[in-house]
Amino acid sequence: MNSDSMPRSKDDRIRGTGQAPVLLPLALDTPYTYLVPEGMAVGPGDFVRVPLGPRERIGVVWGLGEDPQADPVDPAKLREISEIYDTPPLVGDHLRFIDWVAVYTMAPRGSVLRMTMRVPAALGRPPTRAGVIYGGADPERLTPQRARVLEIARDGLARSTGDLAREADVTSSVVRGLIAAGALSAVDLPALDPFGVPDPGLPGARLTGEQAGAAAILRDAVRKNSFSVTLLDGVTGSGKTEVYFEAMAQALRRGVQSLVLLPEIALTPDFMARFEARFGTAPAAWHSAMKPRQRERVWRAVISGDARIVVGARSALFLPFRSLGLLIIDEEHEAAFKQEDGVVYHARDMGVVRGQIGEFAVVLSSATPSLESLNNAEAGRYAHVRLKERHGAAVLPDVRLIDMRKQKLPATRWLSAPVMAALSARIEAGEQSLLFLNRRGYAPLTLCRKCGFRLECPDCDAWLVEHRFRGELMCHHCGLRTPVPATCPSCGAEDSLAACGPGVERLGEEVREAFPGARIEILSSDLVRTAQLRGLLQQIAHGAVDIVIGTQLVAKGHHFPHLTLVCVVDADIGLGQGDPRAAERTYQLLRQVAGRAGRAEKPGEALIQTYLPEHPLMRALVAREREVFFSRERAMREAAGLPPYGRLASLIVTGRDERETAGYANGLARAAPPAEGVRVLGPAPAPIGLIRGRHRYRLLVKARRDVNIQAFLHAWLDGRQPRGSLRLKIDVDPYSFY
Ligand code: ADP
Ligand code: ZN
Repeated sequence: MNSDSMPRSKDDRIRGTGQAPVLLPLALDTPYTYLVPEGMAVGPGDFVRVPLGPRERIGVVWGLGEDPQADPVDPAKLREISEIYDTPPLVGDHLRFIDWVAVYTMAPRGSVLRMTMRVPAALGRPPTRAGVIYGGADPERLTPQRARVLEIARDGLARSTGDLAREADVTSSVVRGLIAAGALSAVDLPALDPFGVPDPGLPGARLTGEQAGAAAILRDAVRKNSFSVTLLDGVTGSGKTEVYFEAMAQALRRGVQSLVLLPEIALTPDFMARFEARFGTAPAAWHSAMKPRQRERVWRAVISGDARIVVGARSALFLPFRSLGLLIIDEEHEAAFKQEDGVVYHARDMGVVRGQIGEFAVVLSSATPSLESLNNAEAGRYAHVRLKERHGAAVLPDVRLIDMRKQKLPATRWLSAPVMAALSARIEAGEQSLLFLNRRGYAPLTLCRKCGFRLECPDCDAWLVEHRFRGELMCHHCGLRTPVPATCPSCGAEDSLAACGPGVERLGEEVREAFPGARIEILSSDLVRTAQLRGLLQQIAHGAVDIVIGTQLVAKGHHFPHLTLVCVVDADIGLGQGDPRAAERTYQLLRQVAGRAGRAEKPGEALIQTYLPEHPLMRALVAREREVFFSRERAMREAAGLPPYGRLASLIVTGRDERETAGYANGLARAAPPAEGVRVLGPAPAPIGLIRGRHRYRLLVKARRDVNIQAFLHAWLDGRQPRGSLRLKIDVDPYSFY
């Protein structure tokens, strides 16, 4: 845009009759140019309403005069901005962040902006509710009820009509009568409660020497007011949370906002209670289960700067912070930080970028850091702070492998003799056990004993999982539910369908038979409603359950003081399947699950059933030799050119028609331009070749670290957009490979 062509003032705002680029939260990469009407002035980050086609849209004024695409346009062809909102503008760092994420993920800029603009209601005037205030004069007719109301109102504070009536113990018609009589005046009160101001001065935990050292390093990082990344690497229960609370206290003293990102599953009432105990007030929480009003309240408080600390799931990274000055990513190794739909991004990696742009401290916390982060720490790019001791007398559990090749179990039994013996001993001793199996339902596969027919989802390349408790078969990919048929759908045989393999429900059956008197609970997302979960977790914490059988849901975040035994029923589930991080993830999950035992003063034990006892990750679990396992993993990835030593991008092609889908994928592969340091693999049918009736093919781009993989992808794919029912998803730095 030619800056001579527009009237500009020194504060860099564009005034009436100038032209302004406005980015809309749609799948568009470039801003559109609009005319600033007479009497209006706009600046970068301002929220504006603009006409688009027959309707109006809310957009954001983008970097003024920087956009080479937005050449000056003939003003006669331009439409005017309709309105500027008095919401504070998005700060420059946030605009740059959106630009950066769009370029990196190859998503249209407008789609990235949309993640910031998920709460359109937060842009208008803040909602109000009816309130009253003392009007200055008593009415002529003063009943005892009226007198009670006025006695309260005379302090001059504004109250909602309802609150005042309640306080005076009268009906609201009495209050309305006083308004009509002029004794009270109607006023508008804010409908959204303000957030409390967290107090960094409250006493935190008395830190141990090791913790205090770590806290001092983090406080320094916050004080420096510059970009840094610190890997806070400490065993479960070592006090990482207490330590990063001190970094947040420092940010509060500096007057900047903090953001704590947690995997959705770890956003527990427990965590909020600990926060409140430390800072004297609840944080602004951001997660998927919020109601629109709560979202609005948080969004407004974040952009105004009133919310000093936000605790949220990954999407909180795109909230419109006014002065973000500290970012903490807890459980940084969690795959849950990767968003797979829409804009495909990794919140940990984009969080580090946000810190770089905003020049502030980023803290990555984990008991089992990702190989990527460990590598960055080793290379000196990240500071590495370790916590080796568990707080109090708690010690890490002993881990024992059970070689399932040597266990001769009947086909419908899943628990080995050593596990049974250990469970029995715990019940005797009045202690708690956890059986971990990451498989919901009763059995992962149902087949016909007569003809061998397997019950599969008609729309997905997946077996139907029996959920006996609900009497249904379910597809875990598309959610299809159907009753268990009485006869084989293929050969019609009766009573021929057999459940194969275990799910948590079936494990429950096995344990109930073996220990008829034991109190047993199954914790699985499809059996326990969120509302019940809290009560159940409390019961477990109080020792009211002998054996907990659980999926992923129990792996993290919850504190079970009576738990002294953890059994991993099938340690091998996550391995294989062409995922370069499979071993790393399995290690992280099992380490985390094993760490559940013996958190309090009782020593714990973990038993791990595996058919691969020689696997380096299994050895590492026993010997606690994380370094040995990770150095082998790193050597393997380096040799194979896998992340973090090389770059990956996945292309996933899907379509309704198999031949058309394959044809498009093949055409893409043929069109790949030759490039130094880049290899294109595939296409191949995806491991799950059909989901929701769509056929799936995958291509994988492997590139050297120094290759600009986005530039390569643009050169290849621009102009080859899929048509009709075909879709192409680009996943830079993929974490899922199904
Ligand atoms: P991590 O985040 O490393 O798993 P936490 O910060 O959750 O560890 O600490 C584990 C438990 O120990 C928590 O209940 C915490 O309150 C307690 N704890 C840790 N450090 C201290 C301390 N210095 N004083 C008192 N309690 C502590
Ligand atoms: Zn399905």
